[in-house]
Amino acid sequence: MNTPVFRFAPSPNGELHLGHAYSALLNARMVETSGGRFLLRIEDIDVTRCTPEFEAGIFRDLAWLGIEWEQPVRRQSDHFEAYESLLQRLIREELVYPAFMSRGEIRAAIAESEQQGGVWPRDPDGVPLYPAADKRLPHAERQRRIAAGEPFAWRLDTEAALSRLPAPLSWTELDDESLTTSHEVEACPQQWGDVVIARKDIPTSYHLSVVADDALQDISHVVRGRDLYQATAIQCLLQRLLGLPAPAYFHHRLILDPDGRKLSKSERDTGLATLRENGRTAVEIRRMVGL
Ligand code: GLU
Repeated sequence: MNTPVFRFAPSPNGELHLGHAYSALLNARMVETSGGRFLLRIEDIDVTRCTPEFEAGIFRDLAWLGIEWEQPVRRQSDHFEAYESLLQRLIREELVYPAFMSRGEIRAAIAESEQQGGVWPRDPDGVPLYPAADKRLPHAERQRRIAAGEPFAWRLDTEAALSRLPAPLSWTELDDESLTTSHEVEACPQQWGDVVIARKDIPTSYHLSVVADDALQDISHVVRGRDLYQATAIQCLLQRLLGLPAPAYFHHRLILDPDGRKLSKSERDTGLATLRENGRTAVEIRRMVGL
């Protein structure tokens, strides 16, 4: 077997909390038991919300936890041109289309349809799917609006994309952290509708840059929280469309707050920096997350 390659890929838009600690420590443990490599990737494409201070905090927290990662660390904001070239391929192959509707226009379209008794479909996160109107715009009309400087995002034409691939689409999900057994999960990207592939102001999106980098960094195992399980369907579709290798996935349990809710980056009492300042040790953090 080739050397397994793992990655921990936080976004520096807040402080790391116990949930991140669990994910990073679990990756590190799987690296250790499999004789693999540990890469750290900074997912900072959202340049307005990500800051160098939060990035420095990530390095500090992970080092404190005793995690070792390879250098250099890949910082996504240094590689926009790599994602842009993948986007251009999707544009050329007419797999994405310019989506012009503002939030208000989307809301209005949904309200109108619901008034007529229709139930608007929602994605697994509960967000209404993007209306189909822009997909039907004639080519000349699209060109005219782009030339007129109208803001737009590139969205995946999920139906068209799926029709070009042999069904079924699936990904490999490990059964546990031992890397010994796995099962195939059928991917249903259509439940997300036409997702954003490049935003108005940034030539990429989370989904595009994550599949680009997982391939570029030869990641063999993506170990991350259950909250990203459903999103894997889109990433798997993009891998197939772009001819990128597909890693195996392990979506681990989430660390929840005492009320059973997912931790958020704004909850200071579970922030690693705060816990450290309050005198907690790295050993205690491991115990707190059950590792
Ligand atoms: N950057 C993402 C986050 O912080 C994680 C992406 C991934 O692991 O695929 O939630």
